[in-house]
Amino acid sequence: MSKKFNSGLNIKHLMPEQPCVLCGAFSNDGVWCRSCDADLPRLGNAHCPVCGLPSHNSEICGQCLKYTPSFDATLSTFAYAFPIDKLVQAIKFSGRLALVNQLADALALCIVNRPDFIVSMPLHPIRLRERGFNQSQLLAQRLAKTLGVSLLTDVCKRTRNTTPQSSLPWQERGKHMRGAFTCSADLTGKHIAIVDDVMTTGTTIGELAHTLRIKGALKVSAWVLARTLPH
Ligand SMILES: [Zn+2]
Ligand SMILES: [Zn+2]
Repeated sequence: MSKKFNSGLNIKHLMPEQPCVLCGAFSNDGVWCRSCDADLPRLGNAHCPVCGLPSHNSEICGQCLKYTPSFDATLSTFAYAFPIDKLVQAIKFSGRLALVNQLADALALCIVNRPDFIVSMPLHPIRLRERGFNQSQLLAQRLAKTLGVSLLTDVCKRTRNTTPQSSLPWQERGKHMRGAFTCSADLTGKHIAIVDDVMTTGTTIGELAHTLRIKGALKVSAWVLARTLPH
């Protein structure tokens, strides 16, 4: 049974005065300022509860009815559009913790159902070595701490270093991801939230969700900063 648990959640900390990463104005609001925050491309309330794409009256969309994904719910704070795309790219390349934390806190405010565990989208070891950190894990660490939910680390692994999804035709993506992950934990009866920075087609998160289900997960939610919207 899920219950709303973050009422009264206070994640605004006292911030030092700093220039906004988006407009340059000095404030105590954090990495970006309050007026830029108001202009960020937030997703509206009317979206498919499964895949997070806009849908009439928040009904399950036709695509999800036709091909039910392995995850049950998607929670995304933003549309993957300017300037969120720039902020997400910035954490991918710099791993700047203040920025990661402010983005994770924006996502935390949207979360109403407490999962049993959080997992982050794993990077293949070769990619991790190139980059030095996994931005999804940094986001997941902050969310776990803020929400008081355990983060399962080193349980899920990416065993294939797959080509970035965006370079593949849509139909190829599902096939391409099959068997890309392993999970070493017994998740029988558990609700797991997968944390990732962006959901594009949902294929990668779907494949990880499928892996978690094989290990017994009862419910899988996808928590992402941003959702790519169809043109
Ligand atoms: Zn600003
Ligand atoms: Zn859908």
